[in-house]
Amino acid sequence: MSINVHISIDMEGVSGVVHTDQTGQKGYDYNMMRKAMTLEANAAIEGSFEAGATTVVVNDSHGSMRNLLPYMLDQRAELISGSPKPLGMMQGVDDNSDISMCIGYHSRPGEKGILSHTIRGSSVVQHFYINDKPSSEFEINAGIAGYYNVGIGMIAGDSDIVNDAKNLIPNIIGAPVKATINKFSAKNLSGNETFKLIKNKAIECVENYQEFKPIKYKTPVKMSVEFTSDLMADVVSFIPGIKRESRQVISFESQDYIEAWKCMYASILLAGIPY
Ligand SMILES: [Zn+2]
Repeated sequence: MSINVHISIDMEGVSGVVHTDQTGQKGYDYNMMRKAMTLEANAAIEGSFEAGATTVVVNDSHGSMRNLLPYMLDQRAELISGSPKPLGMMQGVDDNSDISMCIGYHSRPGEKGILSHTIRGSSVVQHFYINDKPSSEFEINAGIAGYYNVGIGMIAGDSDIVNDAKNLIPNIIGAPVKATINKFSAKNLSGNETFKLIKNKAIECVENYQEFKPIKYKTPVKMSVEFTSDLMADVVSFIPGIKRESRQVISFESQDYIEAWKCMYASILLAGIPY
């Protein structure tokens, strides 16, 4: 029996990260925090193999998706890096995956949490909705994993997203690595405590991987995006099948979750081009 583990790792929810100076490629502290991100990935990889994983694939899920340091990453894992990728933060999940984990995750806009946003952040996306419900990256990605019949068994990030994730997956294993004070400040676990926590939760997740049910949203699924400007919605509305809901909101409906996702993701990428 083989156990194939998928890991999606973002950066805003990494312990010690509280500001965009640490998450943007031009930021002063960026190079330091990408090491921290790589070490959090290593903790999850180590835990996965210790619990019996056969393969581990890690998808770099933040910004350019070129953050993890390939030569510092646990060499037993495969690394998916770069962007754009059709499944975005969930690239690498497929019918052969047995379980997925989310590391470094954060809340959706409008909710309490460090650097809260969805996908392209405050510059493009104001809100993302699944079936008219404002949704976090975690909720979107749980649907992508669910499409391939894969459950998400573990989430690491700030205390808010870890708590919020339990509304969708009540038995998900949480690794809160920092407690939110406000959007730009947190009380963080030390590096060593963070790695220990993530490793132990990854072990628990992989040992019990069959207990995490895949998420299937009601179909036809309607996905909508509220953009930060009218012009973005204007441009995206050129695409046949996209419905204009209001000045800044567009939507797309499909029987197929991945079709809806790809249409929304392409729309967001298109909207982000400067005109
Ligand atoms: Zn991110």
